[in-house]
Amino acid sequence: MAIYAHPDDADVAAGGLLAQWADEGCAVHLVVVCDGAKGAHALVDSAHLGEVRYRELESAAHLLGASTVVNLGRPDGEADNDRALRAELVTLVRSRRPEVVVGPDPTATFFSGVYINHHDHRATGWALLDAVAPAAAMPLYFPESGAPHQVGRLLLSGTHEPDVVADVTRVIDRKVAAVLTHSSQLADDREAIRDVVYERAAQAGRLTGVAYGEAFRHVELDF
Ligand SMILES: [Zn+2]
Repeated sequence: MAIYAHPDDADVAAGGLLAQWADEGCAVHLVVVCDGAKGAHALVDSAHLGEVRYRELESAAHLLGASTVVNLGRPDGEADNDRALRAELVTLVRSRRPEVVVGPDPTATFFSGVYINHHDHRATGWALLDAVAPAAAMPLYFPESGAPHQVGRLLLSGTHEPDVVADVTRVIDRKVAAVLTHSSQLADDREAIRDVVYERAAQAGRLTGVAYGEAFRHVELDF
């Protein structure tokens, strides 16, 4: 199960890993917290943008081979690690019963002195951590939300402390295609963004000696 804030986040962060798992016969469940309806640098029709982004999300999820895709529909900028979001995530974890949950590392705030990690990424990361451990695994948390489920492993992307790298060389072109499916987010920079996705995957690959990779912090929960 991948839990991310915005419709394009999973493709950017973990699209290769998810595509590879789908190819290998895993059920891949994609959960998106926010509607993406503020993802623009111009004053556009937000409701229309939200509809466009939902269609882009469905297309990209299909391309990756995801079994299910859920958008929880929070307004952009308003993801919060509140009880309501944790309850939704616990319900999803207990119904899908994933072995692995993939999502954003909430501890990463500043990147290279030029980027502040988006509020929704951080809030979603904290909410997924709290939903997975301990809430989903313990019956007295959200007893109305299904039978407890212990997730085995977390893989957190966008991290300053990567300790595992997924080799996504075989599916790198599909990852790139999934990212490029989000046309509303590309402006006129389609070629440049494609190059950036390949280059970042090559950088991650160099950490472990493969052509293209995706880097994560991993946490073993079921030992
Ligand atoms: Zn995002």
